[in-house]
Amino acid sequence: MHIDILTLFPEMFDGVLQNSIMKRAQEQNAFSYQYVNFRDYTINKHNKVDDYPYGGGAGLVLSPQPIFDSIHDIKEKADKPPRVVLLCPQGEPYSQQKAEELSKEDHLVFICGHYEGYDERIRQELVTDEISIGDYVLTGGELGAMVVIDSVVRLLPGVLGNAQSAPMDSFSNGLLEHPHYTRPADFRGHQVPDVLLSGNHAKIEEWRHYQSLKRTFERRPDLLKDRELSAKEESWLEEWKNS
Ligand code: SAM
Repeated sequence: MHIDILTLFPEMFDGVLQNSIMKRAQEQNAFSYQYVNFRDYTINKHNKVDDYPYGGGAGLVLSPQPIFDSIHDIKEKADKPPRVVLLCPQGEPYSQQKAEELSKEDHLVFICGHYEGYDERIRQELVTDEISIGDYVLTGGELGAMVVIDSVVRLLPGVLGNAQSAPMDSFSNGLLEHPHYTRPADFRGHQVPDVLLSGNHAKIEEWRHYQSLKRTFERRPDLLKDRELSAKEESWLEEWKNS
């Protein structure tokens, strides 16, 4: 996968993209990235990327020209049109399902906004996806782009050391993940559940499934609304609802 990041502040990304699993993913050639500072594409005397909003009001709006020309340049060099993601608090709420969808692409472009927002024609003419990382307002799209890039890259083949871990993560199968324990079995009087020490894999799987569903029922019942429940899951849910 190749990722182009349109940003006025490329140095913000280095800490995330140059460490840990993101760094290893590049060493494995799972993905590459390039910063596109769209200020470099300005054609005005003072390299201004923003301007006052028509109709008045507070704040400055990102101008269309530098972003249109950056994307045009990226598309000219690409074999096929990339997905162009606009980070935006008004976008589709981001989810694991969206991360899985984006991880199937060969080429992603992220546009990070700043100031009051974008000229609407950027949204209308250039963008294939608008993503919000939550119902709050950030100063810029960089943190949002980092969140999306991290969650997409970890799904690329071979990136996670243990191939089992991504499908078991919270949200991947529609549930929150079960609790984890590691050594020691007795930590200052707090015990690891006996079943995890039993060596009985079937029983351990069942315990994990039970805990995963229970956690979802207690913390995120909204995730269960459209789930097709097995008979066993139905009976567990009945037990908790009646307790
Ligand atoms: N005036 C805009 C509004 O009310 O919708 C908010 C602009 S915000 C201060 C500046 C930039 O930060 C946005 O253009 C976007 O790129 C980014 N941003 C802010 N909140 C975000 C969120 N929740 N998810 C993704 N990007 C966000």
